[in-house]
Amino acid sequence: MAPTVKETDYLVIGGGSGGLGSARMASAKYGVKSLIVEAGRLGGTCVNVGCVPKKITYNAAALAEAIHDSKHYGFSVEHTAPFDWSTFKAKRDAHIAKLNGIFAKNLANDTVDYLHGWGRLLSKNQAEVTLDDGSKVLVNAKKILIAVGGKPAPPPQIPGAELGTNSDGFFEIEKQPKKVAIIGAGYIAVEFAGMFNALGTETHLFIRGKTFLRSFDPMIQESVTNEYDRLGVNVHRESQATKIEKDANGKLSVTYRDGQGNESTLHDVDNLIWAIGRVPETKGIGLEEAGVKLDKKGHIVVDEYQTSTVDNIYAIGDVTGQVELTPVAIAAGRRLAHRVFGPPEFSTLKLTYDNIPSVVFAHPEVGAIGLTEPKAIEKYGKDNIKVYKSSFSGLYYVPMAPEDKGPTNYKLITAGPEEKVVGLHIMGQGSGEILQGFGVAVKMGATKEDFDNCVAIHPTSAEELVTLR
Ligand code: FAD
Ligand code: NDP
Repeated sequence: MAPTVKETDYLVIGGGSGGLGSARMASAKYGVKSLIVEAGRLGGTCVNVGCVPKKITYNAAALAEAIHDSKHYGFSVEHTAPFDWSTFKAKRDAHIAKLNGIFAKNLANDTVDYLHGWGRLLSKNQAEVTLDDGSKVLVNAKKILIAVGGKPAPPPQIPGAELGTNSDGFFEIEKQPKKVAIIGAGYIAVEFAGMFNALGTETHLFIRGKTFLRSFDPMIQESVTNEYDRLGVNVHRESQATKIEKDANGKLSVTYRDGQGNESTLHDVDNLIWAIGRVPETKGIGLEEAGVKLDKKGHIVVDEYQTSTVDNIYAIGDVTGQVELTPVAIAAGRRLAHRVFGPPEFSTLKLTYDNIPSVVFAHPEVGAIGLTEPKAIEKYGKDNIKVYKSSFSGLYYVPMAPEDKGPTNYKLITAGPEEKVVGLHIMGQGSGEILQGFGVAVKMGATKEDFDNCVAIHPTSAEELVTLR
């Protein structure tokens, strides 16, 4: 049977954060005939197996911590309260299904055409979409956006690696594990380990270095890694898994080598999760055949305007390997729609990738914007920067015994005689909410004096950031 043929102005392959943002902006704002192609669930990684279900789980973990802490305030509660993972998971899944429906409705409201299927480029102006029933649709497009995101990096080739799962699999776990092993040292490993531990699962985190979150400021790396020790996460430093086996009871054994070269085995593990980075979804979708250049890691090479090496093909979000965050994909996608389809004054609109705030939903939360101290030294020279620090235990911990008090650590880095703020690094309760406002100030080029000129809000933790000496 001959394939159906569709004509469109703007074909968007990938219905995740960036693709949806761009296609909707193009159609709703500029009346562009857009067509979005999504092979999985609308909303992509963030909505289905990322930010949203993760944050809901984080909220459950935060409640568990509050229940634990409440006895210090005089509440007569048990040390821990029973937690029904299955009930929680069903509610979380229902919310995600609801969001999938809302996204489909939004596409219809914004008159974006939508095909559920797998997209593959045939040339710089044509793509083939394989629908769920196997039939094909040929799409002729004036402009094409590739927003296909990424997927969890495959595990290293060690025996039994496939017995583990990845971050996608985390969201499918039906029963709360008694014991988990997480391998990795980035956002996902740290967030998952913190949540499991707070919810009462025996948690083992295997990291290759001495600290985790190694792209963050050394203060953050050290203080959060040490805090995980205090909270009871079993952090196996300088350790690498060498073999995974399954026993007769279906439990996993993780054999690993530590920094001294000694081999040990962790038994009775219910779930092992690989969280060792993500890779782009760029294989087998006709990119190179259409002339789109990929880098060594398979990310699409784009210029500052998100244009690939083919002039009418653009790429945004995780597939470009720039900053792998949802608001970044959305911002890049929307700006691109304005630039390509909007009035002439938007012809130079683009996303600038400096000073992007980011938060790790660790325990406690970590927030960062700008340069780490080593990077600031590298850029400005040691003599041209000034570092302000504050370490304290927030008012929340006042009723608690010393061993139950959590840390708060802040660092502000300024550069030059005008003391422009070039780095802000915070860890402590509420850091996620605190950082957004400070992010605006840093993005606007605030100086230390601007920070000091803002009257403190008392009593908060954030007030320390405008009273640093
Ligand atoms: P995606 O959202 O991945 O969308 C790509 C879409 O393309 C997918 O739906 C995929 O099915 C589809 N697709 C792929 N190939 C094809 C094809 N050939 N044809 C048709 N469709 C195709 N970011 C934050 O900002 N905050 C967080 O708290 C956060 N937490 C996270 C937690 C986890 C566990 C993970 C994994 C990620 C998290 N992220 C977070 C990162 C965030 O999810 C991504 O940066 C974001 O989703 C990237 O958006 P995107 O549009 O580039 O790609
Ligand atoms: P990350 O890139 O954050 O971290 C992966 C880390 O795993 C590496 O930095 C490395 O750390 C370690 N690693 C790599 N290979 C191995 C290996 N073979 N064995 C053991 N450890 C290894 O990736 P994630 O998968 O955690 O997350 C992907 C991206 O998704 C993040 O970078 C972030 O952009 C986004 N994300 C954002 C979140 C948020 O905004 N809150 C939450 C979750 C994800 P080392 O070199 O120290 O060993």
